[in-house]
Amino acid sequence: MSQVASGYYAPASLRDAISLKRRLREKALFVAGGTAAVQLVSKMIAEPEAIISLEKVPLDYVKIRGNVVEIGATTPISRLLETRGLPTALREAAENIHGLALKDMATVGGNIFTPAPAGDIATALLSLDATLVLRGTRGVRTVPLSKFYRGPLKYNIKADEVLTAIRIRRPPRLSSFLKQTPWRYSGPTIASVSVGLDLDKNKKARRVMVAIGGLTTHPYRVKRAERLLTSKKLTSELIEEAAKHLVDNVDIIDDALASSWYREVIAQVLFKKILNRFI
Ligand SMILES: Cc1cc2nc3c(=O)[nH]c(=O)nc-3n(C[C@H](O)[C@H](O)[C@H](O)COP(=O)(O)OP(=O)(O)OC[C@H]3O[C@@H](n4cnc5c(N)ncnc54)[C@H](O)[C@@H]3O)c2cc1C
Repeated sequence: MSQVASGYYAPASLRDAISLKRRLREKALFVAGGTAAVQLVSKMIAEPEAIISLEKVPLDYVKIRGNVVEIGATTPISRLLETRGLPTALREAAENIHGLALKDMATVGGNIFTPAPAGDIATALLSLDATLVLRGTRGVRTVPLSKFYRGPLKYNIKADEVLTAIRIRRPPRLSSFLKQTPWRYSGPTIASVSVGLDLDKNKKARRVMVAIGGLTTHPYRVKRAERLLTSKKLTSELIEEAAKHLVDNVDIIDDALASSWYREVIAQVLFKKILNRFI
């Protein structure tokens, strides 16, 4: 039987949260909204001896200053729908999260740690070239989201660090997120695609960021497709060519939710659908 959580802590400051984590290290699990952590614990994927709730730590905010968007890690996903001026892909990903109650509880930061069939917000953030702000006992460091995932439930975060914010510098002017679920209105992600894009006046792509979710444990960027599209005028032929490289060297999940073949086909369909809108 699991030896779960003999200690429950709800620090009121970031400093206290970090010093608790430094003391308890891997024995403690941070919990923000708890919607994914509860599953990790009940399925015994995580067997923490202590829970450190981030509920009272003041990290619930969205700031838009000039060309920089910063989202506090414990900001509920519903806030992304209430805030004007956020990139479209982020709003569309938030719209796709299952149910109103979940959107109010689940946090933006928690979504980054939650593997497929979740991670919709993380997929959108990846296509916006977001950076994570991590704070630990040795200070603050930033890590591009594209360098954060190191394998199933493995992240570029130290035992005493907490994710405090997600930063998007110079958000692309155009972006869009699409997801396929087994049901008509939201649900687990079979495949999702998010694209961030800057076009010049001749419709040449100056900057392209393509992120895929649902196909592996965590979302990934598709550098090959990005390179194919960059500095070229978008055409349906070019988009068709780029779509062939969405799953290069990817070990696609094949499970009861969807076969790997279906996930790949859906990812291509969503990718083409998004990009053809921008032609
Ligand atoms: C019924 C249901 C439907 C769902 N539908 C969707 C969906 O449609 N799309 C989707 O993407 N997801 C979905 N999810 C998954 C999940 O709820 C979300 O991904 C959510 O954003 C997780 O956030 P949270 O705050 O609840 O995380 P928590 O459960 O609190 O934490 C999750 C993990 O992140 C870590 N963590 C959280 N915050 C921090 C931090 N600041 N620093 C360091 N570590 C941290 C925790 O230690 C834990 O390991 C669903 C879940 C449920 C239960």
